[in-house]
Amino acid sequence: MPAMSTIVWVAIGVAGGLFLWKTGIAMLRGFTTPLPPPPPAGEMRKINVRYRCSVCGLEIKLTLAPDEDPPPPRHCLEDMDMVAPLYD
Ligand SMILES: [Zn+2]
Repeated sequence: MPAMSTIVWVAIGVAGGLFLWKTGIAMLRGFTTPLPPPPPAGEMRKINVRYRCSVCGLEIKLTLAPDEDPPPPRHCLEDMDMVAPLYD
């Protein structure tokens, strides 16, 4: 028959362990929370900008962005160069 104080300490240990476990799960949930969904199409800016990769020559056109002056995309580990903004 263990002493009462031993039982109390075991109970405290179990409670502490459960608390840490729950905290850990909550933190994991925080890390794995999916990114927020993109804003609805109405809040996206229609843009028309071409970028060219200065390393391999790949050229792309951006037509939608969350704001009117998005940071240049990267290709071949370099920022792409803006070719010419084409305004409609
Ligand atoms: Zn490239």
